[in-house]
Order: sequence, then structure tokens, then C-alpha cells
Amino acid sequence: MSYISEVIEATARKNPGEPEFMQTVKEVLTSLEPAVRAKEKVLRENCILERMVEPDRQIIFRVPWQDDKGVWHVNRGFRVQFNNAIGPYKGGLRFQPNVNLSVMKFLAFEQTFKNSLTGLPMGGGKGGSDFDPAGKSDAEIMRFCYSFMTELYRHIGPSVDVPAGDMGVGGREIGYLYGAYKKLTGVYDNGVLTGKGLSFGGSLIRPEATGFGATYFLEEVLAHRGESIEGKTFCLSGFGNVAWGASLKISELGGKVITLSGPDGYILDEDGVKGEKIAYLLEMRESGRNRVQDYSDKFGCTFVPGKKPWGNVKADIYMPCAMQNEIRIEDAKAMVALGVPVLNEVSNMPTTNEALEYLQKNGVLVAPSKAVNAGGVAVSGLEMSQNSERMLWSAEKVDSTLRGIMKNIHKQIVDALSEYGMDYDLVAGANLAGFKKVADAMIAQGVN
Ligand code: GLU
Repeated sequence: MSYISEVIEATARKNPGEPEFMQTVKEVLTSLEPAVRAKEKVLRENCILERMVEPDRQIIFRVPWQDDKGVWHVNRGFRVQFNNAIGPYKGGLRFQPNVNLSVMKFLAFEQTFKNSLTGLPMGGGKGGSDFDPAGKSDAEIMRFCYSFMTELYRHIGPSVDVPAGDMGVGGREIGYLYGAYKKLTGVYDNGVLTGKGLSFGGSLIRPEATGFGATYFLEEVLAHRGESIEGKTFCLSGFGNVAWGASLKISELGGKVITLSGPDGYILDEDGVKGEKIAYLLEMRESGRNRVQDYSDKFGCTFVPGKKPWGNVKADIYMPCAMQNEIRIEDAKAMVALGVPVLNEVSNMPTTNEALEYLQKNGVLVAPSKAVNAGGVAVSGLEMSQNSERMLWSAEKVDSTLRGIMKNIHKQIVDALSEYGMDYDLVAGANLAGFKKVADAMIAQGVN
């Protein structure tokens, strides 16, 4: 049996009931075949693949909190510190009812490769809770964050592990988490969290970073085909922070976003999501109603309940910005039948392995999330630099550095593909490029 198959099998045996984690392990390891072929002996001797799929540690803890009526609830908190070969663990916190260990491990594993691609010194980690922030009052969110940090603080630090936001965790939550951390440790170490408010060490452009970065990466992909964003139509899903940032940048560059989605369905706005409509997304998010229909109610466009745009609306580019596994095989088939040529994955692992294989076999160009959405964590890395320097960079400096990082990610992918004599396959190239740096650092540091 090949080294890769051996490790995939052993991982499946050791981690029953973790479908999301196994999905990413299979997808990533399978695509590393050329790298393994070139260096199998040294990779085996150093147990690189075995160590790559085994987190350094997995912390699971109880989070009790009291609601506004005085009733106590208990949630589960997680922090998976996956790999710190190239820097302190880094990755967001997700508060969402479907969070479990499998989801945390899949995200932390992906984060290791993503962070490596940014070129910044950050290892991979992820955390969160099965807490549902929808409909909670501000005071409830504050109490939950304080309770969560009561355990988390002993595991993190600016040179140890630096959490940030993810779904359900934005600027407000990071503020409460930082307040709790500061109180518990008695130290003003604001490099311990990123995504902070500007008044206590946050970075300009951090809220925009994931959406902007995804659009900059797409520019590189399109340039490679001799095309540009100008005049293209886009289907996005979600209406949160990521879809907001992407809509801003796409419309600035002359593209037109025609769909957004929520748990309730999707909206189709043939006129384009632009100007004040983009600003309204922030209000929709703040309302906590979690309904995209509010957009069609306000601006009078089409609302399709209970569906996603995938395979239902024709566009030049699909950009999922919501959740893992939202594009399934039936969506992939409909997408090919409609003739959508490019899938720019923004949410983490939005495509099932079966759908991904179908799309690639049928000529759809797929840009993988670990490259496309790396702009978020990249600007977190720049926030860490600013905290170390005790300086605030201008928006222009952050934005142009971000653009350079996204350009460089594309270049690293192209270089990795040419090193192995491969065609323009961004999925394999991103895995190969992300893997190389982490594996080199692991080999240099000995087996630990
Ligand atoms: N949650 C985002 C991600 O998946 C940001 C992480 C961070 O800034 O550390 O990359």
C-alpha cells in the first residue's frame, strides 16, 4: 500500500465519527502524491504525514453561562492546536450549533496549510463552541465570552496561540474575550487575539480582509486566463462579513454580484448588489435576524425560499461565502449544465469531495478556499506585527500588503505546480505549496 493510503486508512481507524476531518485529510493527502513521490524516504523517516494528521493537542472544556432570565446553560468549548512548526498556532473561533470536534479538526488542519501559504510565521489552530449566538442579548454574549475565556486563557498567548473570529465571532465577541483575558492575566498583551477594535490594537482593513483577499486572488486566477473581473457576474452565498467584503471589492472592480443567501433562501438582484445595498448587509447582520429576505423586502428583488443559488442561477463566477459542504454533487452537475466556468471557494471546504472531482473533470476551474480566503488570517498576521511594533499601519499599507500576499500565494501555487511538472490545478498546487514549508520546518526541528 502507498504511504498516503496507509496514513489515510490509519487516520480513518483512529478517528471514527469525524466525517469533516476525514474529508479534508483525504482531499489534501491524495493531492500530495507528487511531493511524496519525490521525497518518500525522508518523509517516512520523519513520520511527516502521520504527524501532519495528528493535532499537537485538542482541548475540550465546559462553558457554563447564565441567560437573562437567570437560567444556566452548558455548552462545549474547543481549541485544537494542530501544528506550530512555522509559528504560534493561529486561527479563528467559531460559535455555531453545528460545531463539534470533527469540524474543529477539519478547520484547524486546513488552517495549517492556509497559514503556510500566506508566507507569514503562523501555525494552525481553530476553536469555538456549539453555542448559538442567534437571538442572544448583548449581556448574554458577554457572559458567554467571559466564561469561555475563563478556561481558554491558560492555553493561549501572543507567542503560543492567537485566536481570532470566525462564524458567530466578530468584533464585539473579540472585545469581550480580550477584556476577559486581560482581567484574568493582569497583562496588556493585545497580540493574544486578532480582529480587535481599532481603539485597543486592531488593524485597519481586518473586517474587509477575507472578502478583499478572495477578490484579489481571483484577479490573479483570471489574469492567468487573460481575463479580468470587469463586466463579470457573480453568485455569492451568505450575507455576513465575508460576502460583504467581497461585494465591496467586486463592485469596485467593475463586477456585478447578483445573488446572496441566508438560512432562509437566496435573493436574486439582477441590478447588482452595490452602494447602499452593500452597507445594508451590515444592518442585516447586526439585527441578528439571520434572514436574507430582509434584503429583497427592502430593495424589491426576487427572493427564492429554501434554496441556494448553485445550479439555479447562471453567472460567470460562483463564490460560496457561507458554510462547509454547501456545493454537493447535484449542485455541481447543475452548475456544469449551466456552463458556469469558475468556482472561487471562499468559505472553508464549501465543496464535497465528490462534487469537487466532478467539477474538475468537467473543466470547471476551482480555486480552493485555503488559498482564496487566506486574506483574513493574513491581515490577522499583520495585526500581530502591528501589536509587536506598537504601531497602527495606514489602511493603504495594510491593503497593499494584503494584495501582495494574495499575489504571492498564486505565484507559490504556480511555482509548486511547475516544480512537479503539473498543469494549472489550483487545488493540488495550494496543498503542495502549503505542505512544503510546514514539512521542511518539521524535518528541520526533528521528530516531536
Ligand atoms: N477565521 C478566519 C480563517 O479561517 C480568520 C482566522 C484568523 O484571523 O486567525 O482564516
